[in-house]
Amino acid sequence: MALVVQKYGGTSVGDAQRIRNVAHRVVQAKEAGNRVVVVVSAMGHTTDELLDLAAQISHEPQARELDMLLTAGERISMALLSMAIIELGHEAISFTGSQAGIVTDTSHGKARILEVRARRVLEALDAGKIAIVAGFQGVSTAYDVTTLGRGGSDTTAVALAAALRADVCEIYTDVEGVYTADPRIVPEARKLHAVSYEEMLELSASGAKVLMLRSVEYARNHGVLVHVRSSFTHNEGTWIREEDARMEQAIISGIAHDTSEAKVTIKGLPDVPGVAARLFRVLADEGVNVDMIVQNVSSEQGRTDISFTSPTEDLRRVEVLLESTARELGAEGVETDPDIAKVSLVGAGMKTHPGVAAQMFQALADAGINIQIISTSSIRISCVVAASEVARAVRAIHESFDLAAEAIHREQHPATVTGQIRAVRASEAGT
Ligand code: ASP
Ligand code: MG
Repeated sequence: MALVVQKYGGTSVGDAQRIRNVAHRVVQAKEAGNRVVVVVSAMGHTTDELLDLAAQISHEPQARELDMLLTAGERISMALLSMAIIELGHEAISFTGSQAGIVTDTSHGKARILEVRARRVLEALDAGKIAIVAGFQGVSTAYDVTTLGRGGSDTTAVALAAALRADVCEIYTDVEGVYTADPRIVPEARKLHAVSYEEMLELSASGAKVLMLRSVEYARNHGVLVHVRSSFTHNEGTWIREEDARMEQAIISGIAHDTSEAKVTIKGLPDVPGVAARLFRVLADEGVNVDMIVQNVSSEQGRTDISFTSPTEDLRRVEVLLESTARELGAEGVETDPDIAKVSLVGAGMKTHPGVAAQMFQALADAGINIQIISTSSIRISCVVAASEVARAVRAIHESFDLAAEAIHREQHPATVTGQIRAVRASEAGT
């Protein structure tokens, strides 16, 4: 008998009718002979509404109280889904994160799961019941209710799947899976059959919203097989799993974009040891996240510029922190630009295929789009462009790599990567 963890996102449980539909799907999985655990998000925009409500009461709500408030959203869904399943003549029981044994650290609003004590969930399964768990929440080592950060129900589901040694963790959402690019920007984007943990980590970290980054880390660390699929159809979605020989060895998996960051440049810093350390220590001590750091080769005058990106919501704080630090360090000034976007091309095959970066830059050049910052990992190339150009940039790169066509396989070796796809398609047409 298989054990399945299913997670339903906010849209999938958006109203009473949708909750009844989810109940039907859950019951189908149970009647097919599985042991079923269901993790739910809050209905529709409940979390945003609760945040808005809190903001009307307090400028800076206490983190503990805010978490107490936000966890209510998922509790509503879990109880309603449980009732809907009972209406269908099956046994179900709902649990809060705390009752389900999700133990976290004490950092309210972005708590990390330390341990899952799934005894009550297991007892429910052993009694033949369907267990419904409120996502996005846990209980801290100090016995306070915590939340896991936006999108955290994905992490709840993966953590439960790991603890219960589930056969699969199904993430039900309002799209059919993981796409080669955001289909709202690129209508011909293709659904991916499978993506490795490493690629999904890069995609999630680069702005793909379909899975919370931490849930992918958790899945990779514990080897949880994840299946992202639509709650509105029965189609197969996208599998997230260990890269292996049987996997289609695509060079490029997809493109992610992120408009949530701003660019910061500190100009004319003295090029002496300790400057970067000092600058980023100030930001780190205030908990500011930074990404894409670039430092120029120093000029003859022994000065250099450093640029980085940071969440736009932190920009005000960054400006305040850097103003005095830059002055103390003798820099010429600080410039910020919130109107930027990061476009990232991700694919495990980049490691062994030269020319991918050149082709990406050419695609942007041909579209007349200026690249402001470039950064890479072994399987990702990211470019910062003007925010107003982001959709055109994504389309240009998608087009250049012909991502709407079937995956490019790594065995082929024509001159350009696009050439490789054409070669694959030609050979497939011939067989
Ligand atoms: N309800 C929470 C959010 O909106 C958690 C989740 O949906 O995963 O972020
Ligand atoms: Mg989500």
